[in-house]
Amino acid sequence: MDGNEALRNPIFRRIGDAADRMGVEAFVIGGYVRDHFLCRPSTDIDIVVAGSGIALAEALGRELRTRVSVFRNFGTAMLRAGDWEVEFVGARRESYRADSRKPIVEDGTLEDDQLRRDFTINAMAFALNAGRFGELVDPFGGLDDLGRCIIRTPCDPDVTFSDDPLRMIRAVRFAAQLGFDIWPETFEAIERNRDRITIVSRERIVTELNKIMLAPVPSIGFDLFDRTGLLPYILPELARLKGVERVNGRAHKDNFIHTLKVLDNVALRSDNLWLRWAALLHDIAKPATKAYDPRAGWTFHQHEVLGSKMVPAIFRRLKLPMNEHMKYVQKLVFLHLRPIILSEDIVTDSAVRRLLFEAGDDIDDLMTLCEADITSGIESKVKRYLRNFALVRVKLREIEEKDRVRNFQPPITGEIIMATYGLKPCREIGQIKDAIKEAILDGRIDNDYDQAYALMERLAAELGLTRA
Ligand code: ATP
Ligand code: MG
Repeated sequence: MDGNEALRNPIFRRIGDAADRMGVEAFVIGGYVRDHFLCRPSTDIDIVVAGSGIALAEALGRELRTRVSVFRNFGTAMLRAGDWEVEFVGARRESYRADSRKPIVEDGTLEDDQLRRDFTINAMAFALNAGRFGELVDPFGGLDDLGRCIIRTPCDPDVTFSDDPLRMIRAVRFAAQLGFDIWPETFEAIERNRDRITIVSRERIVTELNKIMLAPVPSIGFDLFDRTGLLPYILPELARLKGVERVNGRAHKDNFIHTLKVLDNVALRSDNLWLRWAALLHDIAKPATKAYDPRAGWTFHQHEVLGSKMVPAIFRRLKLPMNEHMKYVQKLVFLHLRPIILSEDIVTDSAVRRLLFEAGDDIDDLMTLCEADITSGIESKVKRYLRNFALVRVKLREIEEKDRVRNFQPPITGEIIMATYGLKPCREIGQIKDAIKEAILDGRIDNDYDQAYALMERLAAELGLTRA
């Protein structure tokens, strides 16, 4: 197996020639090589040099007349060739001490460098020097593991994971992204080393977590977190969803399994990362709101309200952004029961209008989440729900076309009320504005300036206000 197919871009020959002239060996290594065999085209190239990565990058930069960014502290350099981003690093040998995250780094051979990589499938290299151009260097059987769909460390997994515990999460990430299995010895080492994850920064963890969320079947990742015992360290709230309680022979469903199904269902329908987070967190408050009622059975009253309140703290702890993405997840968690309630009842215009008003532009995502939330095993039930949701969707479209309440701003503003009645900011203004909004949402008046103005006049008269 050689890499001539993978190395068509002329940049690779140029790197090899420059390395020849400098008398050093250069290889393309890691993700690019792996993704070539997986037929996943990539434009991120990592070059490792048995010698100085920075010197080779600078030589190439001069030849290509292109700027080279040098990071001396890390011993790396980067340049761009068209869309391609090429990073250069010297081959390293690393040794770690148990009490420190900082490795002792020394110059090493290619094989030293491959040995310190996380997994065999990420440790393959193609030679670039003219004499060996395209030769695969794969001392740890990465290609075999790729064929067997296996994630395995190149050296003793206890060493790999205690050197950099993030690699345990990366193992889960690659398993989820690629649909691979974690090799039994590697898996057992994760179980043994899991509490070392506490020394890894949240920022590094969340990068991997988001890659798991974006995987084709994200539940693979969370199931592995659970089975390796990593889950309580990463998302304890999710771990608490596990299990089934039984009273008088009545059990509720396992909310962890349910949540993962919903997540996968959403993943089938959308690659929106934040919609996927909303799916993961939609029932997060079920353990905290769980109660048993002899007549009604298991209840989770207001879990959508408490759940949406839990979202900011979870986002902050995980170092997810505290911006409009967080607010979006909060909103979807808060509203996730509404379309179901709507579809179980006679679908009134006013209920649809209210939902449209509250969900705004996120209404389609909310419907996607709700459809994904139907995980019942009873087919007739699923069919009935989906039919009702289809009705709700039709109704949503009709009402939106007629009333335009999605993102609507009430036609009478506070300023208009103040100017008309010569008021300073006061409680009455809010009352009038709210009453107009409610009247529109209820369908008692149209979303229309004149009708809203007339209502304002009636309300003002009731409140004893006179025109300025
Ligand atoms: P992708 O870019 O698709 O996320 P990747 O394998 O390219 O996947 P990167 O994080 O870009 O992942 O890392 C590039 C290469 O560097 C990897 O293929 C691997 O060889 C090595 N690597 C990255 N992170 C680690 C780590 N924590 N420990 C050991 N090797 C690592
Ligand atoms: Mg990469």
